[in-house]
Amino acid sequence: MSSSKNEPSFRQSVDMMFNRAVRLMDLPPGLEEKIRVCNATYTVRFGVRLRGELKTFTGYRSVHSEHMEPVKGGIRYADSVNQDEVEALAALMTYKCALVEAPFGGSKGGLCIDPRQYEEHELELITRRFAYELIKRDLINPSQNVPAPDMGTGEREMAWIADQYARMNTTDINARACVTGKPLNAGGIAGRVEATGRGVQYALQEFFREPDDVAKANLSGTLDGKRVVVQGLGNVGYHAAKFLSEEDGSKIIAIIERDGALVSDAGLDVEDVRNWIATHQGVAGYPNATYVENGTAVLETDCDILIPAAMEGVINLDNAARISTKLIIEAANGPVTAGADEILREKGVVIIPDMFANAGGVTVSYFEWVKNLSHIRFGRMQRRQEESRNELIVNELESLSKALGSTWSPSANFKSKYLRGAGELELVRSGLDDTMRAAYQSMREVWHARSDVKDLRTAAYLVSIGKVASSYRAKGL
Ligand code: NAD
Repeated sequence: MSSSKNEPSFRQSVDMMFNRAVRLMDLPPGLEEKIRVCNATYTVRFGVRLRGELKTFTGYRSVHSEHMEPVKGGIRYADSVNQDEVEALAALMTYKCALVEAPFGGSKGGLCIDPRQYEEHELELITRRFAYELIKRDLINPSQNVPAPDMGTGEREMAWIADQYARMNTTDINARACVTGKPLNAGGIAGRVEATGRGVQYALQEFFREPDDVAKANLSGTLDGKRVVVQGLGNVGYHAAKFLSEEDGSKIIAIIERDGALVSDAGLDVEDVRNWIATHQGVAGYPNATYVENGTAVLETDCDILIPAAMEGVINLDNAARISTKLIIEAANGPVTAGADEILREKGVVIIPDMFANAGGVTVSYFEWVKNLSHIRFGRMQRRQEESRNELIVNELESLSKALGSTWSPSANFKSKYLRGAGELELVRSGLDDTMRAAYQSMREVWHARSDVKDLRTAAYLVSIGKVASSYRAKGL
């Protein structure tokens, strides 16, 4: 966190970025204000009897914009949760959903709690009670407000919430669509856990398909061999780092966690580090890299790509001038403050903004919600039919080859890939890739076409605010 007195709060930072973009648009001031403000924030304080005493918890659910319903956004469990943060995150959800064309308004929730201090059965009691408070006010509801995981929550919490909703709405046939990010056996979808990190990978792949954009970051070539620093090896950071190193040839030269950082010029084995953290609750003591106690300083490591994937405000007025990367992809929400953003732009660092970079999560959540409402797994109707049609073609080609006296036959690798019909995971990844490519191109078009748009973040805001404004106009506002 920044120690500078000039640093705005997270919500002010989001508003400043919004204001910078909206100045370049021609919106009536009333509509501009309507889009910017957060519609409502509900604060709840509830008691749970734990370890022989009554403990009071504070939670929030904020609804930023209802230009489309349901509204959507994760639920975060962290000590630092507060109203300002939840409102900033809800606003980002509005812009994110508009940018990737997920048909939702923006919302976010949070509970002030350090989940590491509680046993599983205690967390279940707390989560069910929090969910009860939100469900009875329709702040969790398949057609009005659909939460998902965020920092400190995951499949387990989403399953508890879904079950709590089903208990309170026994005749709602769409009950499972009240929350996304559930485990597969509780109505989840293949590929949701990896989705945000996978989306970060697809976002970078699309960026590197555009040599002009790569050159703007003073980089060249592909992701292969690029030196990457990742902050936060949780859900998002782990998957992004894993896919980039295992599939694209990037080198993860540093991983920053709560208790310090691991640095290795030769590249870190992401799976190995993840396993170490799981058994040792931190990175300290990991044998195959150099340990640095001051993790925040490692954000300043000279590298090609910096992936902040932990929390907001980590690149701020204190350290922005010393950041020594060429490209930042904001896997976390709001990791770069408005002031830092300006300093980095002046230095020529290209920033792929959060509202696009981490939209993989809400995109696959959208697919999960559709799956729950349609009550059928993706690919169930088409898969075998697709396989039998492909088999027909391959058999026909083989007979043609024989009839022509050729010894040609398709390779075993081609056959196994071509003959396999797409299952849910393949379809989800394909839909996610398509979404990330289309959203990148929509931002890029504005970035390149308008001389007054100097960066991808402003371009992203222009695209998304334009879409939200159209929805409001269509409602007659
Ligand atoms: P997570 O709880 O799974 O992981 C967060 C990781 O960051 C943990 O490993 C934690 O130890 C580490 N961390 C926390 N504070 C740190 C600090 N000060 N320095 C270094 N490491 C620190 O959370 P997540 O779901 O991966 O979310 C991370 C970020 O991504 C958040 O900003 C969240 O809003 C955003 N995000 C998450 C999703 C999703 O689907 N989970 C979707 C979109 C955006």
